Amino acid sequence: MTKIYAVVNQKGGVGKTTTVINLSAYLASNGRKTLLIDIDPQANATSGLGVDKNAVDPTTYDILLEQATVDEAVLPLPDFKIDILPSSPSLSGAEVELVNAIGREYRLQKALEGVNGRYDYILIDCPPSLSLLTINALTAAKDGVLIPVQCEYLALEGLSQLTQTVELVQKYLNPNISIRGLMMTMYDSRTNLSRQVVEEVRGYFPGKVFRTIVPRNVRLSEAPSFGQPINIYSPHSPGAIAYKVLAAELLKGDQVKETSA
Ligand code: ADP
Ligand code: MG
Repeated sequence: MTKIYAVVNQKGGVGKTTTVINLSAYLASNGRKTLLIDIDPQANATSGLGVDKNAVDPTTYDILLEQATVDEAVLPLPDFKIDILPSSPSLSGAEVELVNAIGREYRLQKALEGVNGRYDYILIDCPPSLSLLTINALTAAKDGVLIPVQCEYLALEGLSQLTQTVELVQKYLNPNISIRGLMMTMYDSRTNLSRQVVEEVRGYFPGKVFRTIVPRNVRLSEAPSFGQPINIYSPHSPGAIAYKVLAAELLKGDQVKETSA
């Protein structure tokens, strides 16, 4: 059974794209057939994996407009053992073009029926908004949402709005959705603030925060400019190790859920 997760936080710069790229890479290196879907018009996951976002075609845009199938748009990245459904800046127009379209919230979900069972994991990188693009991701994410939270002042800001959006999606569009987990990113062990933020988020979302904490690590910020995930760019860096352990934690949790279901 395919696990489909949306990686969401309407705040920008919290580590969504970094998490999607590197979690995908480690799920794949653990032998899981993995598809990364970029549904952000900024297309940072696309370019961060070495795909030219201005040249690639078809993209997620064509999927949402029903001008291409997922099969036609998916690019295999054999060096990283993952497949990507790339994005491009044209995706920013999709919102307007879909405004009166029937079933506009279900476009991605419907399209993914075409690759049903082909992947073990599908991770969707969302834009920093609760727009129709994010709603498409939430509607398709049958196994829930992963929420990266930056270990910074005001980390919790916006999370209640996000939780409400997830609840609305659950009520009207995708009854299966729930918060699969929150991951703390850009942890700075030299500051008390980071530690306090982790405690605060754990208090607010008891049992939902992954034990693995991703440290602030310059290698993670360098890797996208080389078009590589961290397991290739700098496999022994603290950032790489964190994402490797995070992937293992996700896999283990999913197995526990499956055997208890
Ligand atoms: P989002 O997708 O939520 O906007 P990104 O993943 O693009 O966030 O991260 C924002 C910026 O922070 C990027 O420049 C990225 O390279 C950097 N970054 C993300 N995670 C880390 C980390 N753990 N350590 C250092 N830099 C990071
Ligand atoms: Mg991003």
